[in-house]
Amino acid sequence: MEDKIEVLQKLVENSRSIVFFGGAGVSTESGIPDFRSIDGLYSQQWAYPPEIILSRSFFLQHPDEFFRFYREKLFVSGVHPNRAHEVLARLEHEGKVSAVITQNIDGLHQQAGSEKVIELHGSIHRNYCMECGAFYTVDYITRCDGVPYCRCGGMVKPDVVLYEESLDTSLLEQSARLLRDADLLIIGGTSLSVYPAAGLIRYYNGRDMVLINKTPTGFDGQARLLLNGSIGDVLGQI
Ligand code: ZN
Repeated sequence: MEDKIEVLQKLVENSRSIVFFGGAGVSTESGIPDFRSIDGLYSQQWAYPPEIILSRSFFLQHPDEFFRFYREKLFVSGVHPNRAHEVLARLEHEGKVSAVITQNIDGLHQQAGSEKVIELHGSIHRNYCMECGAFYTVDYITRCDGVPYCRCGGMVKPDVVLYEESLDTSLLEQSARLLRDADLLIIGGTSLSVYPAAGLIRYYNGRDMVLINKTPTGFDGQARLLLNGSIGDVLGQI
């Protein structure tokens, strides 16, 4: 492992525009459960599976139940960025990392100080009235009971991409551009099985790809460097 960390350090040293592509594993190390993983919420008791509750049609038909689940399962109080978030923010300020592309919706990268963050699945920190577009903070959503409504009477929807909803095309285009221009791609905390991860990283033309994940992924064979371990532990050493 030590040798591999040295290789990673060298790769980072020799790069000028690193793109970090991160998945749920980056957040789970901050104590946020991954509802797609086996040990996560799927195995917990709930009337419907998460992918149904977190779908657009369910949200529109049963907003009460949606928000009950959303508040209980998607918010974890007192979470803080971990070493992975902190190192990525530092590397951005040192001019090494050009962007973080994340599938997480918790805003922890920004909290750690990263500025160029592409949130493919949106963010719990942005909420908008479906009628007039007024903005609401995450506190507004967590503090009120039941369905959050706007002053105008419209329902407030978190700016997170639900099942049945499509991803923001401009974010996908931006991600593709950043990946095309990157000279090092570090992928962490994702098995790359969730759309659109696998498709997006094909835009990367650079020489070396680094994969940091606790479990094997379908891309292990393409990685210049494969680190099977905790993303916080690995990045924390560079
Ligand atoms: Zn409104």
